[in-house]
Amino acid sequence: VIIVLLGAPGAGKGTQGDFLIEKYNFTKLSTGDVLRSEIKLNTDLGNKVKEIMASGALVPEEVVNAIISTRLTADAINNGVILDGYPRNKAQLGFLLDHLRKLGMEKELLVLDISVEEDELAARLTGRRICKACGASYHVTFRPEQQSGICDRCGGEIIQRADDNIESVRNRLLVYRKETQPLLDEFASIGNLESISGMRSAEQVKAEIQKIIENKEEKSL
Ligand SMILES: [Zn+2]
Repeated sequence: VIIVLLGAPGAGKGTQGDFLIEKYNFTKLSTGDVLRSEIKLNTDLGNKVKEIMASGALVPEEVVNAIISTRLTADAINNGVILDGYPRNKAQLGFLLDHLRKLGMEKELLVLDISVEEDELAARLTGRRICKACGASYHVTFRPEQQSGICDRCGGEIIQRADDNIESVRNRLLVYRKETQPLLDEFASIGNLESISGMRSAEQVKAEIQKIIENKEEKSL
């Protein structure tokens, strides 16, 4: 299976991705990680990417596509892959579908969209706090520290990150919606989109995702 996990900031995508990796031993493929590892491995593509990055330019689409496709082999997909940060636009989605078609594996694509209402996302994100010293994360409502302003773990100072204020959160959500809506429409028309309500506990969301994946595996046997 090849999973595209969608969800606005604060929807719980990270938590669910980690759960899938742990539960099914899926591999996570993130564009940034893959580019960094190609550079480290000194491959031809890696050297090209290094040059482009050193010049301060963005890595061109076709290079990102080429690198992603070398990792998306039939074996990797059979073992299970989670895509992170890819596809980001319609052009990348088109390339991905083409690649899967060539492998005869287009049916393996599963898009999970965790949807959470905007006000709830704003509450989750603006309530986040972190320890300045050790990075431990807290939340004013869902996970408050024992002694106000002091980290339970290390005694460090607990702060709010600058970009977790309401204006910046609203803006991030707006950008997400603008980037993702065209992809959602496209996925819906292909017919492999599963919408999951994220307005519940992480455990309930996990259980539903697990059910969807196990149904899919049964069908493909
Ligand atoms: Zn701390």
